[in-house]
Amino acid sequence: MGSTPPSKKFTVTIVGGGIGGLVLAIGLLRRNVPVRIYEAAAAFAEIGLGLSIGPAAHRAMPLVDPQIREIYDSLVTTHADSPGYEHFRQTWFEIVWASGPQEGDTLMNLKALPSGQTTLRRADFLDALVNLIPPEIVQFGKRLESLQETAENVTLHFDDGTTAVADLVVGCDGIKSKVKESMLPEESKQKKPQYSGMYAYRTVFDMDEMVEIVGDQRARVSTMYVGNGAYGISYPIMRAKKVNFGLYMLSEKWDHDEWVRPAKREDMLRDASSMGRYVKALVERMPDPSQWAIFEHPHISTYVRSRVAILGDAAHASTPHQGAGAGQAIEDAHVLAELLGDSNVTEPEHVVAAFKAYDDVRRPRSQRVVTSSKENAYLLCLCLDGVGDDADKLKETWNKRLRWLWDLDVQGQAEQARERMSEYRQV
Ligand SMILES: Cc1cc2nc3c(=O)[nH]c(=O)nc-3n(C[C@H](O)[C@H](O)[C@H](O)COP(=O)(O)OP(=O)(O)OC[C@H]3O[C@@H](n4cnc5c(N)ncnc54)[C@H](O)[C@@H]3O)c2cc1C
Repeated sequence: MGSTPPSKKFTVTIVGGGIGGLVLAIGLLRRNVPVRIYEAAAAFAEIGLGLSIGPAAHRAMPLVDPQIREIYDSLVTTHADSPGYEHFRQTWFEIVWASGPQEGDTLMNLKALPSGQTTLRRADFLDALVNLIPPEIVQFGKRLESLQETAENVTLHFDDGTTAVADLVVGCDGIKSKVKESMLPEESKQKKPQYSGMYAYRTVFDMDEMVEIVGDQRARVSTMYVGNGAYGISYPIMRAKKVNFGLYMLSEKWDHDEWVRPAKREDMLRDASSMGRYVKALVERMPDPSQWAIFEHPHISTYVRSRVAILGDAAHASTPHQGAGAGQAIEDAHVLAELLGDSNVTEPEHVVAAFKAYDDVRRPRSQRVVTSSKENAYLLCLCLDGVGDDADKLKETWNKRLRWLWDLDVQGQAEQARERMSEYRQV
């Protein structure tokens, strides 16, 4: 990062304090960039289910701020947390057949080199990130409705009738982003978040109960259960005291306004009925039959417009089938923090070039992740064209596609963006 940069003549206003907004804020503060955060909720909050982070995002964390990686590593669960399973340290998931003649057998041990499976409880991560944010820079209960930009600044309008003026804005306000709607009004009407063709049942089991239901290895080693038209997923969290479990179903339509809805127990049991002994046994013990519709973002033409940018799910909300959504927000935050923290970026006008460079570098990768995440669901449901339930093709495809996702030169992306930024500034 070099010598201390000259002081900035701008403050970065972040709308939304989820994982994306907080990681960006921490990265900017570390680079001496003034930050302000507006969050809709009354306090920072995250639902308490699990989060799995891949190797590229893991490498991005210390680059944003070494404290983020320290936090992650202090909370993280790996297979080595279960005595006797240390040899699965580099395993991402074991893939187990949930249908067909080999039901219950292991198809492959899918590795994620070098970090292996690393998971945590989302709420724990968010709580720890919050400790790195000075409370005085955050305003809660501020739900953005719209924003307006002039040549000099951006005015934010909140649903409590108040307004605020900002030098520049980064929208980290999730899949229903209001920043995106104001930034791209016409495109946002045509490209609303869309149902991805899958819904899920989700829960967290105590490890003891999990072992009782599926046995020691299936409970302690992260597992994807691949079936015809559905897949199950489980991975240990909280130092292997708990296990996150989900069943994801292909289903063309979602005829409900709400994204999470109560369902009947018999629907859930019917959905699991052809998913093999492990998934069936787990679903029988699931306490809550709520169905979670999985939505995603259609690709949009840009993530920036002059002094406004969007990041994380606001820009590219993806299905969760590759465990990469939060990781993409962290990669975005790294590139943007490096650009805005660059010692040549001092005036608000310089930010326009920084935002353009961020869009050039981050949009192609993050949009490809949205596409490949959905394809991964088809692989897991044994129905990807050209692969189906062919064991050799499944193994080959997973090894190839995940290498692309995980082997990113994270700092290389930031340097590429820096070069683009200087090109834009010379024009
Ligand atoms: C079922 C499921 C499982 C997943 N599993 C994984 C996984 O294992 N690994 C992984 O990497 N990713 C996973 N993801 C994806 C991951 O959760 C998201 O990509 C990530 O949380 C996005 O973070 P974000 O900060 O961009 O948005 P969000 O987490 O949505 O945060 C947005 C923030 O903005 C605030 N906000 C919203 N609107 C406004 C407004 N108008 N004004 C002000 N504030 C506002 C919200 O209150 C919130 O605090 C999963 C997603 C789902 C649905």
